[in-house]
Amino acid sequence: DLDAAFFIRWLTACAAAVEREAAHLTDLDAAIGDADHGSNLQRGFKAVAEVLAKDAPATPGAVLTLAGRQLISTVGGASGPLYGTLLRRTGKALGDAQSVDRERLADALGQAVAAVAQLGGAAAGDKTMLDALEPAAGALAASYEGAARAAAEGAEATTPLQARKGRASYLGERSVGHQDPGATSAALLVATLAETAG
Ligand code: ADP
Ligand code: MG
Ligand code: MG
Repeated sequence: DLDAAFFIRWLTACAAAVEREAAHLTDLDAAIGDADHGSNLQRGFKAVAEVLAKDAPATPGAVLTLAGRQLISTVGGASGPLYGTLLRRTGKALGDAQSVDRERLADALGQAVAAVAQLGGAAAGDKTMLDALEPAAGALAASYEGAARAAAEGAEATTPLQARKGRASYLGERSVGHQDPGATSAALLVATLAETAG
């Protein structure tokens, strides 16, 4: 089962993965946004890793809630409140359990993805992080590897789409032909979850 230490390992690994991929994420955002997605997430996840290194909460729910709060308060862009809500709502759904299994995490993540969709007024197919998150939450009920694959495929499938939400939507048809930065970072976070679990 997954305990607080597991979620701290995952989020710390996310900070390293985001650091490694920051330039790529910013390049994707340069094409259809304002070229800050990599630096936004770098700042946010660095703050998450720092707070978790100092103060390690005792339950998965508390780890995720603290991390989500940290993202909301450190990331200025749209992705901060959205990813912050994702982690906070996942944490809230896990309650005060000492450890959780994959099925329970999948259920909590599904609730959190619905909260992100509501906050952003977006749905899968709008060319956002939801295109990776929604299939990942569904596939996580069966396996970590399946979730990582579903997220990567969802992110790739954003390329031919026209953006209907966020800054990329201002480009209209010119947003077609570029992979969404938020869907790409979402796939990275899910891939990191699978690696941490593996
Ligand atoms: P900003 O657009 O404010 O500069 P970021 O560049 O950090 O913020 O994040 C952009 C990403 O956020 C997009 O690629 C998209 O995946 C996601 N996003 C933007 N608006 C929404 C929304 N309303 N719902 C879901 N995701 C969104
Ligand atoms: Mg941006
Ligand atoms: Mg911005």
